Amino acid sequence: MKIKDILRDKEVTLSFEVFPPKTDAGYEAVEKAAAEIAALKPDFMSVTYGAGGGTSKNTVNIAADLQNKYNTPVLAHLTCVSSTKDYVKEMIKAYKDNGIENIMALRGDIPKEGRVCYDYDHATELIYDIKSLDPSICIGGACYPEGHVECARQSEDIEHLKGKVNAGCDFLTTQMFFDNSTLYQFLYRIREKGIEVPVLPGIMPITNAKQVARSVALSGSTIPQKMKVMVDRFADDPEKMKEAGIIYASDQIIDLISNGVNHIHVYSMNKPDIAAGIMRNLATIIR
Ligand SMILES: Cc1cc2nc3c(=O)[nH]c(=O)nc-3n(C[C@H](O)[C@H](O)[C@H](O)COP(=O)(O)OP(=O)(O)OC[C@H]3O[C@@H](n4cnc5c(N)ncnc54)[C@H](O)[C@@H]3O)c2cc1C
Repeated sequence: MKIKDILRDKEVTLSFEVFPPKTDAGYEAVEKAAAEIAALKPDFMSVTYGAGGGTSKNTVNIAADLQNKYNTPVLAHLTCVSSTKDYVKEMIKAYKDNGIENIMALRGDIPKEGRVCYDYDHATELIYDIKSLDPSICIGGACYPEGHVECARQSEDIEHLKGKVNAGCDFLTTQMFFDNSTLYQFLYRIREKGIEVPVLPGIMPITNAKQVARSVALSGSTIPQKMKVMVDRFADDPEKMKEAGIIYASDQIIDLISNGVNHIHVYSMNKPDIAAGIMRNLATIIR
C-alpha cells in the first residue's frame, strides 16, 4: 500500500522506524525486533539504509519480511551520495521485486573520509531518477525543522526543500526535535513557501541518558530545559528513565495531534518495548 494513500485515508496515523544490523551476526535480533514492532499494527514501518550502503542487503531483507510476511506497509530508505546510478537502479529494482511501493529518497551524509562517487549531489536527483524509473513509486523525503547542518540559512534550506518536493516527493518526514514549537514555526514557514505535502514529525523517545549526547551529535537538535531536567532526574534509574522518555514522547505526540499534526513517525530504534509503550499511551487516541 502506498503511504500517500494511507495519509489521505486515515485521519491520524502512527508509524515506527527500524534500522538494519551493521553485521550479518546481528540480523536475527533485528528481524525479531521488527516482527514484534509490526505486531503492534502501526500504519507503516520504515527501514533505514546504512550510511554508504554497506548494509543494503539487510535493508532489503528486513523491508521485504515486514511487507510480505507481516503484512505491514513499508517505507524502505535509500541514500545516494556513495552510490553509482547503476547501483541505485539495482536497489530500486530489488525493492520493487519485493513488493515495496514506498521509498524514502535521501542523499545520505557525506563520508568523513571523502566521497568515492560523484553520480549524485542531492536527494532531488535521486527523486528524479526514481520517478523516471517508475512514476508509481510513492516517495518520501527528509526535512529539518531546525535547518540542515550544512545550510547556513534556513530560508535556503527551505528553497532546496521546495525543489525536492517539486521533483516528486509525496510526503516529508522530519529530523527529530524535542520542542513542538520548533515544528509549528517550520510548518508555518514551509506552507508560506507553497510546500503543501504532508509532513510527518519524527519523534525520538529519549529513554537513556547517553542517547541525549548521541542524538544531539547526530542531528544538532536543541534539547529543551524540560528534557534536560527529566534526564537529570532519572538518568541513574534505567526503568524510570525509560518510562519518563516514553511519556515525554507521548506528550509531544498528543500536543501535535491536538494541533492538527496528525501523522506521526516514531524513531523506535529497534526497541519493541518502547514502541509498545507509545502505542499503549496513544491507542485510544489514534484508533
Ligand atoms: C527522516 C530522515 C530519515 C533519514 N534516514 C537515513 C537513512 O536511512 N540512512 C542514512 O544514511 N541517513 C539518513 N538520514 C540522514 C540524511 O541522510 C542526512 O541528514 C543527510 O545529510 C541529508 O540527506 P537529505 O536527503 O536531506 O539531503 P538533501 O535533500 O540533498 O540536502 C542536503 C543538504 O544539501 C542542501 N541542498 C539540497 N539541494 C540543494 C541544491 N540543489 N543546491 C545546493 N544545496 C542543496 C540542503 O539544503 C541540505 O543542506 C535521514 C534523515 C532524516 C531526517
